[in-house]
Amino acid sequence: MTALLEVEDLRVAYGKIEAVKGISFTVEEGQIVTLIGTNGAGKTTTLRTLSGLIKPKGGQIKFQGKSLKKVPAHSIVSLGLAHSPEGRHIFPRMSIEDNLLLGAFLRSDKEGIQKDVQRAYDLFPILGERRKQAAGTLSGGEQQMLAMGRALMSQPKLLMLDEPSMGLSPLMMQKIMATVAELKASGTTILLVEQNAQAALSLADQGHVMEIGKIVLTGPGRELLVNEDVRKAYLGED
Ligand code: ATP
Repeated sequence: MTALLEVEDLRVAYGKIEAVKGISFTVEEGQIVTLIGTNGAGKTTTLRTLSGLIKPKGGQIKFQGKSLKKVPAHSIVSLGLAHSPEGRHIFPRMSIEDNLLLGAFLRSDKEGIQKDVQRAYDLFPILGERRKQAAGTLSGGEQQMLAMGRALMSQPKLLMLDEPSMGLSPLMMQKIMATVAELKASGTTILLVEQNAQAALSLADQGHVMEIGKIVLTGPGRELLVNEDVRKAYLGED
């Protein structure tokens, strides 16, 4: 069976700085795969490259067996890759509902769109309660929910989440992680970038530890969670 996403020897540079130095990994349909690692490891750069926002210097990206090399960024969403970016990038003056609807800009099935708006409100009731309010009035965690909800509106085959737990209270973080698990249970495949290694590895079928542009360790989430090196480096243990 072909993997949903295949990344092979991916290299990405900003001018002379090589941020991603030849990484390879796959995401099988129905899995949660996580990239963990400290600041500057190249995780965000990897997601931005998969979304077509940065052109790679080398390597291969295949989605459903098809190379993304010649696919322009604006067409990548229509293939089924959605990205909930770090820093959220919601539109603060627009209403919560309009922000969600933006995620469906490629769709014309009105009924389906309404259904998915409702699904976002079921996942995140606060968004439904405040649907007519400006998105900028939401708290950081709520904006993160909106960014996830918006990414889901394109009915992605692969949902890429960049640091969904960043800046959130422990309670909010639990809520977001529970939603990630729920999305997986409903069949969404997820590529999760996180600095919170504990939370990410607990959910992930497969995890990859990145350090300065390279994958240095790979394994099932639960195995990495008990790996001594991972515990020392990322889970704050001596
Ligand atoms: P973080 O969690 O802090 O986002 P990350 O693992 O996602 O970390 P990246 O943001 O991908 O890491 O950064 C990888 C490297 O590329 C870092 O050294 C960073 O300084 C560099 N970098 C990122 N964006 C740019 C840019 N626009 N121009 C130049 N260098 C960049």
